[in-house]
Amino acid sequence: MRQETTAPAGEAVRSSRHIDELKAIIYQCNRCGQCLDFSTLGLAAKCPAYWGGLFESYASRGKFNIARALVDGLIDYDEELARRVYSCTECRACAENCFKFLDTTAIFTAMKQDLAERGLIPENYRRALYGEMGLDEVHNVYQAPHAERLAWLSRRERVDRPARTAFFVGCTSAYVRQNMAIDTAETLELLGVDYTVLSDEWCCGHPYIAAGLLDKARQSLEHTIAQYQRLGVERVVFNCPGCLKTFKHDAPRLLGRRLPFEPVHILEEIARLAEEGEIRFLPVSPKIVVTYHDSCTLGRWLGVYEAPRQILRHIPGVSVREMRRNRNLAYCCGAGGLIRFDYPNIATRAGEERLREAEETGADTLVTSCPACLMQFQQIRNKLRSAMRVVDITELIWKQIDVPGKPQ
Ligand code: SF4
Ligand code: SF4
Repeated sequence: MRQETTAPAGEAVRSSRHIDELKAIIYQCNRCGQCLDFSTLGLAAKCPAYWGGLFESYASRGKFNIARALVDGLIDYDEELARRVYSCTECRACAENCFKFLDTTAIFTAMKQDLAERGLIPENYRRALYGEMGLDEVHNVYQAPHAERLAWLSRRERVDRPARTAFFVGCTSAYVRQNMAIDTAETLELLGVDYTVLSDEWCCGHPYIAAGLLDKARQSLEHTIAQYQRLGVERVVFNCPGCLKTFKHDAPRLLGRRLPFEPVHILEEIARLAEEGEIRFLPVSPKIVVTYHDSCTLGRWLGVYEAPRQILRHIPGVSVREMRRNRNLAYCCGAGGLIRFDYPNIATRAGEERLREAEETGADTLVTSCPACLMQFQQIRNKLRSAMRVVDITELIWKQIDVPGKPQ
């Protein structure tokens, strides 16, 4: 069934196309295919959309060919093309592999902008954005009431107070993996950080960017930034790489200015303190063998590979076994790009392959550093009836950190 072709509210209808502005990059693709899959040779990271979709048109080279046909006027946008573009997990494996260092995801975002303006956002994603209790209304994609965003927080004195540091909670921590929010906040308490959280925090805007609705993302970002400015915030701590990437990488580009605060991931802070000997960890008992999954966003997008590994090395009783594909070559868990809304088979296939890879290490625990990866692996583990325990590193930190005043 053809979807309506009116543009979503908030995104201006243009007669020109965003993809045409990137012609120069599109023509640089030499169709070498390095972005398809050289992972069996250990040379490259693998594209989950390609391996889930099974046609080259799902992979970066295929989408560059489509983009070229678009700018050459040979084809036009339609639902089938939308399927190729919106099944991308934004894992950036293709950009990592590209010999010509092409900004592959910039092409995909431009295509999404054009598709969104033509009403071609896939059905379930569209409902999550605009439907009853959608992102537009409740400022999260979990259809949860906005008033319950801080339901996990017992320390009400932290809400909307002026402070130099803020904790940006993010939708997944706030609503569906609340332990991550609690563990992060309690760790900040133990470290003596005077922080604030917003009662009117909105989604960072990433689901809008992944849909191609950049004006909407700008509105979300401006809403939160203005509140931080009013409270005198100079540094914002994140536990979600996706939210951090939206503020650190996307916001300056979308808003055309520097942020008035420094965005940091809590793992970078903890790793620094551990390396400087400022904090210690209690031994894990009984001992555990863990394998660490590099979130695509924290890793390939933000370049944070060593901080979580440094933390794990500092926790007595934890030994680490690396997966065959790690750091910049890590395989995506399948949760990125919100593809589970409309393409759950592609998401699940990637998640299953990655969980099996984790099992191959012989580790008993899979450690993540992203709420989306955590959710994905917990669901996949249940589906496969795997014995692998899945925990986020914030849980390990909170349980094992050894500082005076910690409740036992
Ligand atoms: S970003 Fe990831 S999923 Fe998307 S085309 Fe590139 S490798 Fe494939
Ligand atoms: S690796 Fe780069 S140049 Fe080669 S086909 Fe892929 S996008 Fe094009």
